[in-house]
Amino acid sequence: MIVVLTGGTGGAKFVDGVRQVVPEEDLTIIVNTADDLEWWGLYVSPDVDSITYVLSGLLSEERGWGVKGETFFCQQTMKKLGQPVWFNMGDRDLGLHLCRTKLMHEGKTLTEATAEISEQLGIRARILPMSNSHIETRVDTPIGELSFQEYFVQRWYQDPVNAVYFAGIEQASPGPAVIDCIMSATTILLAPSNPITSIAPILSVPGVRAALRNTNATIAAVSPIIGNAAVSGPAGILMESKGLPVSIAGVATCYRDFLDVLVVDDADRAAADELQQSGLRVECTATVMKRIADRINLARVTLAAAGAGSQPASGGI
Ligand code: GDP
Repeated sequence: MIVVLTGGTGGAKFVDGVRQVVPEEDLTIIVNTADDLEWWGLYVSPDVDSITYVLSGLLSEERGWGVKGETFFCQQTMKKLGQPVWFNMGDRDLGLHLCRTKLMHEGKTLTEATAEISEQLGIRARILPMSNSHIETRVDTPIGELSFQEYFVQRWYQDPVNAVYFAGIEQASPGPAVIDCIMSATTILLAPSNPITSIAPILSVPGVRAALRNTNATIAAVSPIIGNAAVSGPAGILMESKGLPVSIAGVATCYRDFLDVLVVDDADRAAADELQQSGLRVECTATVMKRIADRINLARVTLAAAGAGSQPASGGI
């Protein structure tokens, strides 16, 4: 069994590659839930949504989030009615949030609601929210404390960051099957997701990091940093706020205690040689996923680096 730990946008592209080269039913995706929010009274789980949409073939390629062919009529109405619209929610997307919220009001957990939605959408991989406990990424800035969505979507990550923490993490427990899947996996892949706000919340759920240290699985991570910058988004700024270098060495530091191999971009070959001298195995390849062929290549190289095979792509090159 192959387990992928992931956030939303970088992670969704990577998962898209992985699902083309391994049987989908062999895949378990453990997803960050610390970005979840209540919006217009609905339970929204942005990273779980992106993974759900990519695995069901519904993800918008242009935006990298939400549903393709989306319309925004409901949002226009909400705006007219004086409601906040800074967090974008399309009409098709809204249907999924209505369904999830209904299921959760009926007493289902996020894990159960996610499984039911996956089944209805014909997804054969298993999507596991990291936790059913309430965990919330908080970003401390000079204008005060912000939720991750306020920091990222509403304010375009323009505020200097003093600190990032995960409210509720100490009391949280891992979602059902999360630890079992990590312990029984043969291969674990960390997607090129934000190390501070997508992967760190998963690692911080009590028991997860210890499971990664103890599992017999080979663990490979893909760097979301190329050179001295993130491919997109605030990962660099957030790594700096933690005192980490914005480089593949900084990414390696985040996962050092359990990582077997780090996959980095060809552009980082010199830095990779240096990092290898510290004892970590480093694999170089093209890691920018513009087209489906890029995603498939990255998935194949990462699986091979972790000692796992892949099969011919299921289509789309
Ligand atoms: P979020 O929850 O939407 O922030 O999604 P993720 O954490 O999964 O994705 C954000 C991270 O993905 C950023 O740190 C980017 O640098 C990284 N990323 C996005 N696209 C790519 C890509 O094509 N290649 C690599 N290597 N990293 C990427």
